[in-house]
Amino acid sequence: MIQKITLKLLPAEAADETTIKKYIASSLQIKFSSIDGFQILKKSIDARGKIIFINLTLNAFIDAPSSSLVLGNELLAVSDFQFKNVEHSKKSVIIIGAGPAGIFAALMLLEKGIKPIILERGKDVRARRRDLAKLNKEGIINPESNYCFGEGGAGTYSDGKLYTRSNKRGDIDRILNLFIHFGAPKNIAYDAHPHIGTNKLPQIITAMHEQIKQCGGQVLFEKKVVDFILNNKKIDAVKTTNGDLFSADAYILATGHSARDIFELLHKKNILIEPKPFAMGVRIEHPQNLIDKIQYRCSIERDEYLPPASYSLVQQVNGRGVFSFCMCPGGIIAPAATNMGELVVNGWSPSKRNNSFANSGMVVQVEKIDAIKELRLAGFDSIETLENDPFIFMKFQQLIEQKAFEAGGGNFVAPAQRMLDFVDKKISSSLPKNSYLPGLNSVGLDSVLPPFIYNSLAEGFKAFGKKLKGYYTNEAVLVAVESRTSSPVRIPRNTDNLQHLQIQNLYPCAEGAGYAGGIVSAAMDGERVATQISNCF
Ligand SMILES: Cc1cc2nc3c(=O)[nH]c(=O)nc-3n(C[C@H](O)[C@H](O)[C@H](O)COP(=O)(O)OP(=O)(O)OC[C@H]3O[C@@H](n4cnc5c(N)ncnc54)[C@H](O)[C@@H]3O)c2cc1C
Repeated sequence: MIQKITLKLLPAEAADETTIKKYIASSLQIKFSSIDGFQILKKSIDARGKIIFINLTLNAFIDAPSSSLVLGNELLAVSDFQFKNVEHSKKSVIIIGAGPAGIFAALMLLEKGIKPIILERGKDVRARRRDLAKLNKEGIINPESNYCFGEGGAGTYSDGKLYTRSNKRGDIDRILNLFIHFGAPKNIAYDAHPHIGTNKLPQIITAMHEQIKQCGGQVLFEKKVVDFILNNKKIDAVKTTNGDLFSADAYILATGHSARDIFELLHKKNILIEPKPFAMGVRIEHPQNLIDKIQYRCSIERDEYLPPASYSLVQQVNGRGVFSFCMCPGGIIAPAATNMGELVVNGWSPSKRNNSFANSGMVVQVEKIDAIKELRLAGFDSIETLENDPFIFMKFQQLIEQKAFEAGGGNFVAPAQRMLDFVDKKISSSLPKNSYLPGLNSVGLDSVLPPFIYNSLAEGFKAFGKKLKGYYTNEAVLVAVESRTSSPVRIPRNTDNLQHLQIQNLYPCAEGAGYAGGIVSAAMDGERVATQISNCF
């Protein structure tokens, strides 16, 4: 018999199987010996009261084996995926971009018996790692191989947080289950805030790649798509940098939020794109121990059975949203630009989240009127021209990234300021120890950020200090600029058949097209598009 129950335990109790079984026995009023095992369905931390509890929802197996993985209310075998051999499939799909969207689209196509051919501008995960080391250590960027471009896309050397605001539970479970199938730890299936970590993601991505190849699909690296060969409102072929042409029955465009050249190519080819508002700000870093003390109300160290604490903050400042974004407990701030002369920061963390800093994006919503104002001040076109420019947000994004690069002084050294100094408009006389490897330069960030972002952040920080006592401190450092929060361009598609509004066999997909944000939602959109294509064939 399987019985679903919930338990509220202390952190040490929730970490011990025998203790959990004892609680199951007493809760169900049965003998300890009749519990064959249990499967955790949901695990969350309740840190609201004086005592911190772990809430567990689990299936207890009473006089029954517990060999299957349980997700939701269903029993799912982990290997319940039917990847078909597609080597001789009559239908093929070209997927541009090997990010989460591209890879999950390819896996779905295998299940549908359709051959995927992935064209990726960057390198495989191993070769990519060397380029990242060069970027962090020497400040030299490879524009085709960096934190955004390469196998696994922006998701590979990321934090690997796997939560999404989407509430399509069935789809989310499928994505998590696929990650587990390819080697992710099983706890991602039940943790309230699942996370994989940068050290584990590359092997998982490689396993997915191997699966695609074994089934007769193709994953081709250093194949940057630079042209679409159009014929009568359809794509006939795509061309890569070295002049190779690739043709298929359909084309999934999953190139992510940083492929500015793809947005420009679409525009040049008169393929409709639209401006899309996004958010911009800074990455903030505190000592992890300070965040633990605030969130767990401990005086020295957090309980050894609790994970490094995180936070999520949001505040309206003069009608504008200021919010934390992609918080990385025990993490590292990374240089996430794709070009020389532009500076972008983001964050990641290892699976154990055992670095001594906690970082998070802290961003402000950018509207069209803000972008126009800043671009005009910087000497760009007339208001009328900017009003109709699909690149208005992209140009604004690039402008601030260039300012940040210059303010840092080159080689991806980032401009930075302590938090209270930022609010007081005072250049910091020193900067705290931090995780950003290329180095920080003490700068007044009002020389980088437009006033509407600067002032909103300053007000936001003061408000966050009231919500989390100790958060508003000069121990925290702000690093500019957090600018790739989502795509600054939308590639519009038909809501029913998911095809581009003008090009029949082109399927704009996931984050770059403006239909996803984050690993899980990008993966879900990849699957959705692949399923739609299969339905059309
Ligand atoms: C450092 C960092 C940490 C992050 N942490 C998290 C996190 O913890 N959780 C989370 O949910 N999200 C996180 N994100 C965001 C997440 O990675 C993205 O939302 C997600 O990867 C988007 O998936 P995608 O497939 O749409 O695009 P991408 O992952 O951007 O993939 C696009 C791919 O297309 C390729 N490409 C681009 N142009 C071309 C071309 N012309 N020809 C061929 N290939 C091309 C790129 O090289 C890239 O591999 C993080 C991002 C970064 C940079």
